[in-house]
Amino acid sequence: MSKGFRMKPFHLLIVVAALFGSWPATASPAAPDANAIRARVNRELRVAAIAQKILAANLESCPRKSLQYGLGLARLDEASSPQLRVALTEALGLREYPTAFAVVPGSAGELAGIRAGDRIVAINGVKWPTGDGLDVSARKAFWDAFQSGQQSAVLQVDAQRGDQPFQFHLTGKPSCTASVVLINQSSENATTFGSRIEIHSALEALLQDDSELAFIISHEVAHVILEHTGPGKEAQIRDKVVRQRIEIEADELGVLLMARAGFDPAAAARAESRRYQKNGPVTRGLGLNGVYMPPKERDAFLARRADEVRLQLETEASDR
Ligand SMILES: [Zn+2]
Repeated sequence: MSKGFRMKPFHLLIVVAALFGSWPATASPAAPDANAIRARVNRELRVAAIAQKILAANLESCPRKSLQYGLGLARLDEASSPQLRVALTEALGLREYPTAFAVVPGSAGELAGIRAGDRIVAINGVKWPTGDGLDVSARKAFWDAFQSGQQSAVLQVDAQRGDQPFQFHLTGKPSCTASVVLINQSSENATTFGSRIEIHSALEALLQDDSELAFIISHEVAHVILEHTGPGKEAQIRDKVVRQRIEIEADELGVLLMARAGFDPAAAARAESRRYQKNGPVTRGLGLNGVYMPPKERDAFLARRADEVRLQLETEASDR
């Protein structure tokens, strides 16, 4: 979430998309209803919460680190349709002023006490302008303060809940640098480019067990840590032999990353077999496992790796 943060409030859905992934591209021109908006944000929060645990627990392994706050702010945009404005207010409590619409469970924002629906009055002392005039530069200063503030260790947030003013001091959570987003895709897949990880919505829906989804995210985070993808690495991704090696490395490290974050490493094999079962009978019949190990082999590999990792963590714990 540290990357791709756009706050030009032309359209709220774009802001939501920039923060938490993309709004379903297939959404009809009619405004989504409040239930759909809430459901979507909850799914994005689920992905964000799991990702955040993995990224914070594996700090020592990461080549690049940054701070995470896990706080999404947005406001109703004047340009949105009246129906959309109503739905967004109903679903997320959004108004004309900046509002905390998403607070990632376990994040700095939640730990400090911010709740979804809180009105945000100022960030690091930079106030959202009040009054009738449309003070564009003051508004921009507020969003700039929110964005740049997340690069410093502490974020001071003045808020209002009902009539009650609050001041929150958020301490950023040191984490591996990666942005993990939910994107609207009907294939059960996840991809990584550089430090951007995209989890397809169909895969998130398939894996209702958090530990299973944690393996998928951990496998992708392993690609980020091992710097497998990104600009200049396109050729190696296309080379089948290299790619097979890369995928094994990501499985191997992925199981360790999820276990360090407190997820059951045995869920790795379960996640992959669930995904495999979802493949069509033709794909299964032909054994089209692409760059991955054949399913049975991969299953055994992940199960063995889970045992190894459990042992490793037990040994580390007893050495302390
Ligand atoms: Zn992979």
